[in-house]
Amino acid sequence: MQMRGDTGPAGRPLIIPVFIPHMGCPHQCIFCNQRAITGKAAQTPSPQQIQEEVNRFLRYGKNKPSTTQISFFGGSFLGLEKGTILSLLEAAMPFVRRKDVDSIRFSTRPDTISQESLSLLDRFPVSTVELGVQSMNDRVLDAAGRGHRAADTVVAAGMLKEHDYQVGLQMMVGLPGDDDDGAMETARRIAALRPNFVRIYPTLVLKGSLLAGRLNDGSYHPMALESCVTLVKRLYLYFKLHDIPVVRMGLQASDGLTRAGDFIAGPYHPAFGHLVHGEIVFDAISSALGRMEKRPDPLTISAHPGMVSRVQGLNKQNICRLKSAFDIKKIALLQDEYLAKDLLVVAEQQVVLP
Ligand code: SF4
Repeated sequence: MQMRGDTGPAGRPLIIPVFIPHMGCPHQCIFCNQRAITGKAAQTPSPQQIQEEVNRFLRYGKNKPSTTQISFFGGSFLGLEKGTILSLLEAAMPFVRRKDVDSIRFSTRPDTISQESLSLLDRFPVSTVELGVQSMNDRVLDAAGRGHRAADTVVAAGMLKEHDYQVGLQMMVGLPGDDDDGAMETARRIAALRPNFVRIYPTLVLKGSLLAGRLNDGSYHPMALESCVTLVKRLYLYFKLHDIPVVRMGLQASDGLTRAGDFIAGPYHPAFGHLVHGEIVFDAISSALGRMEKRPDPLTISAHPGMVSRVQGLNKQNICRLKSAFDIKKIALLQDEYLAKDLLVVAEQQVVLP
């Protein structure tokens, strides 16, 4: 089925972010401090601000991206006042009319999706809607102060699909009362909704959030980075198995998060996704080496140039770990541009990456 705004097989789209921090949201989720995440104080961007911001991004692009979208995020878009929703969409329209931008996307809470709220979008080229699902366990949602149920996500995702929107679902790991099994169950229930893509975010403790108080009184313990990477790796592989792209793992390194000292604790890493992919490659090479009766030393690993950093892992940790785990003195990493990106050659054995 042709989806709204779907331009067919395409590369990476350019997504122009327009922050609507904490706007439209009457809630206070335990982990949330939208000002910290977006680095901006809460206010409605004016049409002029939107214009300047979008133009700034459009000037960046040297190569024309496959698709360009204006993205309203950082709050709950359909939870805004009707007049504000319409004025934000109107502010984006001139770019679409001029064909500088293909379509509009936004993120919103599952319980803001209704026939009535979707009818506001009818005359606008909105193609993609992301839902902050966070968990599919009502107990975890309650503990996080989300104020919606898993059933709201099921209804919202179904309604969005009926209207042919591309649907993105965001989940979190490490929420109070959740664990690895709970996260896998959330992934199973998310996959059953057949989203077009998912995002996976570790729970971080931010200054000014309710979770910061829980950290201080000792009633919340954030995940360790290592176990979080392992869990997100399992989730990534699960979604991959079900043909659901994971478009982001971990928060983006934002000035607001690091510069203002808003981050207090939790499994934050500026290259979180890279850590996950590095682990996947490490596992694949390890199991190939484990199957070998005799392991050559020096060991040669060939990879596509675009995969070398994943093979090495952050700070070449993978190489060190492989040497130590398999008692290998030397590992030579060769670049081979003719290899597919999901293929490695480890001591002349082909290893297909999951
Ligand atoms: S619904 Fe979104 S914006 Fe509102 S408090 Fe929760 S995470 Fe923050």
